[in-house]
Amino acid sequence: MPFIIGCSILSYIRNKRQLKPFDTPLRAKGFYMEIFNCLILRSAKWGIALSDRQNHFADKIRIFDTTLRDGEQTPGVSLTPEKKVLIAKKLDELGVDIIEAGFAAASEGEMKAIKLITKENLRAEICSFARGVKDDIDAALKCDVDSVFLVIPASDIQIKSKFKRSREEVLKITERFVEYAKDHGLIVEFGPEDATRSDMSFLKEIIKTALSAGADRITPPDTVGILTPERAYNFFLELRQSFPGVVFGVHCHDDFGLASANTLAALRAGAEVAHVTVNGLGERAGNAPLEEVVMSLKLQYNVNTSIRTELLYETSLLVSRLTGIPVQPNKAIVGENAFTHESGIHTHAILVDPSTYEAIMPEMVGRVRRLVVGKHAGAHGIRAALMEMGINPTEEQLKEIFRRVKEIGDKGKRVTDADLRAIAEEVIGVSSAQQIMLEELTVITGNRVTPTASVRLKISNNVITEAATGVGPVDAAMNAIRKAIFAVEPIHLEEYNVKAITGGTDAVVEVIVKLRKGDKIVTAMGVHEDIVMASVNAMMRGINILMGNKFTSSVRRTEGL
Ligand SMILES: [Zn+2]
Repeated sequence: MPFIIGCSILSYIRNKRQLKPFDTPLRAKGFYMEIFNCLILRSAKWGIALSDRQNHFADKIRIFDTTLRDGEQTPGVSLTPEKKVLIAKKLDELGVDIIEAGFAAASEGEMKAIKLITKENLRAEICSFARGVKDDIDAALKCDVDSVFLVIPASDIQIKSKFKRSREEVLKITERFVEYAKDHGLIVEFGPEDATRSDMSFLKEIIKTALSAGADRITPPDTVGILTPERAYNFFLELRQSFPGVVFGVHCHDDFGLASANTLAALRAGAEVAHVTVNGLGERAGNAPLEEVVMSLKLQYNVNTSIRTELLYETSLLVSRLTGIPVQPNKAIVGENAFTHESGIHTHAILVDPSTYEAIMPEMVGRVRRLVVGKHAGAHGIRAALMEMGINPTEEQLKEIFRRVKEIGDKGKRVTDADLRAIAEEVIGVSSAQQIMLEELTVITGNRVTPTASVRLKISNNVITEAATGVGPVDAAMNAIRKAIFAVEPIHLEEYNVKAITGGTDAVVEVIVKLRKGDKIVTAMGVHEDIVMASVNAMMRGINILMGNKFTSSVRRTEGL
């Protein structure tokens, strides 16, 4: 008992201690805190130990999404107003509480985008970024937003080098523009920029000034991403204790890969609004990813948000497609591999009980579990993948298929579903003729013509012809095939990857497509010197696996009818 009291005192001292940037908690204290945690732990899901005393989670965490502002500041990203509206609508459907739609004063296009978003009458609060400048707030007002994220420098580095003013002037500007925005009916979320590198006493002064001028929420941003979870927790605990009853938000950058952890630590200290972006987009290393923060809150801490988690994956796909920024395959929750199993030992166990190697049920985030073959695949995984395709090999045949898959894997090549099917058919000795054949493909492209493609597909005894346009010849050809197939089966192209195997314009091109029909996903590869043909071949191989034996002759549009 005296030990517990001792630990409590240590914890109290640590929380009370003034936080200095780059201040590292002493190792010994960290050790005692761990023991302290263990002694009064509350077992959360999967045995994660949390101390109730250190948990100051708000009843409900509000999600402030800044994909359209900070996320759009990702190098190389520039969204048209129409694309921004599409993302905003998706974020609203996802259940985001506050959407930072952009920086109204940045450009005409930005203003147009925010105006279009506010006209959508979404459920979410629509916010614009603004600096301590009258024109910025006026621009936000012109867009009819609900709120502004008003950001004014707070650290001496920013005040001197960027703002080129004194601390006193910063306070005056804060007072003036918070009041101005409030007088014009805006909700004001005040952001003392670079807060985590600012002098704590001045930070408190600027927050006090903003609050007396009417600010509704305070979000001190970790502008250059220098927090650690310990510092984030202490920083927000201190601010909350200094300003009881004030709503605090947290805005973290991922320069050390700690944005999610820091955001969660701040929320644990009582911050109520989490600034996040889809896929962790944002300046430099990005912001805290929405999907990681929301799922950790839900499953690790049992804290609710209004996010419909089953829409997380499709939101991620949409943002990735519209921004042109791919998601890394091993990215938590939304990465291609997040619910994919290849290792033999893992797939065997997964087939018995998915929770053996999965911390999150894929359906919860709108995904499906995928077992892929490769050099780590075991016989169980290969059999399961073949069964999905309607192929049931004998034990002997499975052994041979297994051997050949390993052989390809050892050569460093990826084994797609189409490859697996081809191997299996060869081993079993039944070659199911392609049910869908490409009879004809014509593509027209040029600088004064809309890229257009027409296809003629033979499906059993029926022939379907279809034409479509696209942004380029590949897009046009893929669209024409999709249109033709869609008349028979709703097959979606989930992913398209291309790489040139050798250099030069006559290089052999390798295209890998991922196709989906319902919750069934297959990958297929096409190789050709012509990128259009490589793409079409990959598409045809994938479609043939997905259609499997289930093809019916209910072709809607056939020649001669
Ligand atoms: Zn930021």
